[in-house]
Amino acid sequence: MGPVKADLILARGRIRTLGRAGLNPHTHLAIAAGKVLACGEREVMNLRGPRTRVVDLGGSAVLPGFNDAHAHVVYYGLTRFAADLSGARGIDDVLERLKEHGATLKPGEWQQGMGYRTDELTERRQPHRTELDRATGDRPAFIDERGGHARVANSAALAAAGITSDTANPHGGRIGRDLNGSPNGLLLEAAMRMVADVQPLPSLRRRIAGVLKAQDLLVSRGITSVGAAVNRGFADDLRAFEALARDRLLRMRVNEFLSWELLEAASHLGVRSGFGGDLVRAGPIKVFVDGGAERVATRAGGGVWRTTPAELRELVARATVAGLQVAAHAIGDAAIEAMCDAVEAAGGELMRHRVEHCTICPPDLQPRLGKLGMVAVMQPTAARFGRVASTIFFPVRDRTHLAPHRGLMRAGVPLAFSSDLPVTPDPNPWPGIRVAVDDQVNGISMLAALRAYTSGGAYASFEEQWKGTLEPGMLADMQIYKADPLGEDNVNWEQLRPRAVLLGGVKVFGSF
Ligand SMILES: [Zn+2]
Repeated sequence: MGPVKADLILARGRIRTLGRAGLNPHTHLAIAAGKVLACGEREVMNLRGPRTRVVDLGGSAVLPGFNDAHAHVVYYGLTRFAADLSGARGIDDVLERLKEHGATLKPGEWQQGMGYRTDELTERRQPHRTELDRATGDRPAFIDERGGHARVANSAALAAAGITSDTANPHGGRIGRDLNGSPNGLLLEAAMRMVADVQPLPSLRRRIAGVLKAQDLLVSRGITSVGAAVNRGFADDLRAFEALARDRLLRMRVNEFLSWELLEAASHLGVRSGFGGDLVRAGPIKVFVDGGAERVATRAGGGVWRTTPAELRELVARATVAGLQVAAHAIGDAAIEAMCDAVEAAGGELMRHRVEHCTICPPDLQPRLGKLGMVAVMQPTAARFGRVASTIFFPVRDRTHLAPHRGLMRAGVPLAFSSDLPVTPDPNPWPGIRVAVDDQVNGISMLAALRAYTSGGAYASFEEQWKGTLEPGMLADMQIYKADPLGEDNVNWEQLRPRAVLLGGVKVFGSF
């Protein structure tokens, strides 16, 4: 057997490995057995054998595939079967869309609607259950505000859950009420579960169909790896990904979160974070520390503790012992601090415990995250949104503490970027990368932003040894752009799309 020859050589491109060479482009890249064999200049052509396919890139740019470290893949997929309420301008608009979508459902089938935001409705308030009733009749209906922290149930859905004037607020949540105390349909944070728990579960087949829809979107944005976030745990999610992998329909690598409810089961089974292969892996245990929007837990007080600091301490300790990483949803500084305390108490420095969002993170907490070996999984577009809306949503005095990408990096905290799809309705990483670079307060370099969207996610899932850059030996997950996004002046970042995407050297999107 002679020296290994390439299966595929990409020639005459602008190929950035984002490894040691940083942003300096190479011209040639060779792939063999799904991995990068070599990356360099013309000498790479020496790896050409009789069966090697050579593609002339004609100056096209190549980057590692993006890693979206936190996206609600299954949830987003299932939303494709719900009434689409995104962009609704007012409550009438919401009702109209529910009515139209309801006509496609079987009698008695639950209706779901998703994607509206109260601040985009002319009324600037949530719809009332009796308003929903007008559109849905006695069919149970449950609509989700984009952001995932508030839902509204109609009267039939509230009745199915047995929620009445006498029902107390659950721990970590609140039932919206009229002045006379009767429920108005609004359910905040943990209260959403009261109705979700009585809602019929989507079938495995529907989950699989949903994942395929989400996958089409993610892959078309150059995303080859995704951290599939969950709000509650269903073994069916993992089954859906496994089934797709088995049938060779999975075109992206999935790090599947497990909800905190599965901690016990996973640790008894001996499942550790990273269990699985390079296509589907068991990821971190997801737990909510605080709420979203105006319900984040801050040191100034207020907010919602969906998991109290004492509970969090216990959960992180149990997970650490079981070899499971924890991904803690923590937006406010008090919530982030509670996670630091929990990791410190558990001696979890080697587990790369994750803070999801990490939005209000003042300078004293940044080095703590670093010392405790924690990873900040952030959504860069939230920086822009957070600063503009900080007076409404985030009660912070010092806005420089919002989305402090630069400070965290200086403190040695690995950053992983993500979309939090469908909170961000389009997972295209480029607008976020642009925001992170252009940020006047906490800006980072283009290279750092790109790494946060590639090797950052790989580090967060303990996979940095085989993916995240295009250095030799790494998985050949990459994206090809017709024009060089880093060389152009007038790039429309929102519209920027790869022309082709490769997973393990195999084309999974576009053409080249
Ligand atoms: Zn999320």
